[in-house]
Amino acid sequence: MNEQMEASEENILHTYNRFPVVFDRGEGCYLYDTEGIKYLDFAAGIAVNALGYHYPGYDDALKAQIDKLTHISNLYYNQPMSEAGEKLVKASGMSKAFFTNSGTEAIEGALKAARKYAYTKSGQADRHEIIAMNHSFHGRSMGALSVTGTAHYREPFEPLVGGVKFADFNDLDSVKALVTDKTCAIITEVVQGEGGIYPADPAFLKGLRELCDARDIILIFDEVQCGMGRTGFYFAWQSYGVQPDIMACAKALGSGVPVGAFVLGEKAAAASLVPGDHGTTYGGNPFVCAAVSKVFDIFEQDRILDHVKELTPYFEKKLDELAAKYDCVSARRGKGFMQGLVITGRPVGDVVKKALEEGLLVISAGSDVLRLVPPLIIKKEHIDEMVDILSDCLE
Ligand SMILES: *Cc1c(COP(=O)(O)O)cnc(C)c1O
Repeated sequence: MNEQMEASEENILHTYNRFPVVFDRGEGCYLYDTEGIKYLDFAAGIAVNALGYHYPGYDDALKAQIDKLTHISNLYYNQPMSEAGEKLVKASGMSKAFFTNSGTEAIEGALKAARKYAYTKSGQADRHEIIAMNHSFHGRSMGALSVTGTAHYREPFEPLVGGVKFADFNDLDSVKALVTDKTCAIITEVVQGEGGIYPADPAFLKGLRELCDARDIILIFDEVQCGMGRTGFYFAWQSYGVQPDIMACAKALGSGVPVGAFVLGEKAAAASLVPGDHGTTYGGNPFVCAAVSKVFDIFEQDRILDHVKELTPYFEKKLDELAAKYDCVSARRGKGFMQGLVITGRPVGDVVKKALEEGLLVISAGSDVLRLVPPLIIKKEHIDEMVDILSDCLE
């Protein structure tokens, strides 16, 4: 451990077992540590840095906004929020957005909006039950944790928000079995991220949509990790043609500034949160919204979604080759630039650590999945370089 690591361990609450590296700067799809060592980044700050580092025009947009105004509160209008909101609503084809500071807060807002919808529409104060999925991840606040499907994350903090039941992801019957007259919402990721990179089956999402329509239940999709272009669509649900009533997004939304949002479709927007129901001091301030707005502009101008769609077959082919070649890789799963390799016979953490030593950043997911969530701007050559390094680590 060097001095900086020691100072961190001395002062920062130990809630992460950090890797022994101090990052200093980034450029494109590469990071450099304080020793000047270069790393190929297939982690992107956990699916945040969609545009890598110093993407042309991004820094300038943020700097220009800093020179004007960074924060003004939600008591007044600000131009970047108007613009970012318009672009987010247009990209999703939904109706109204609320900006938050994180994915967790986007989930909190989505849950509150769903509860309020059920309360308003049914006039039934006990229509509060939420169905969530096993192995899901929605965040660490009390509300978001309540719907997170990993028991050991939840147990030390109970009692959590009441009325939550867990079904099995991709098992429609297990969801149906939990629906009652008190069900107000069903929440799921479209591609489970932390749980181990599991894409939803089309029939599962369609079935959820039909179930929710039939029973006037709010369908919430958590697009925090799989959204904002990662699957080649702005939002992963768009590739399934199944629209939620409420969606949560964050991570790549600002491509490096802390911002999230929950977005309501017409039905939910018309009968849920009203003035006084919800708020945030920072949420959607001019600084982060200038970033969001610029990210959408760059996505459009530089056809980022097309790029992801075009390069995905190559990415998948290369990963499939690794899976075929190395005994310790038993499967590949994923969608677009959100891919996982299932590692058997050795701890996935060992592979992650070895890759770091060899100059490649990858992360794990679930108990045995090597997760690859690179910046959306990677090219073939970056995939080839990743495969070279990873091959050494899988020997
Ligand atoms: C990361 C993540 C969250 C939580 O977002 P934070 O910004 O860490 O609060 C919620 N849902 C999913 C699917 C995530 O991947």
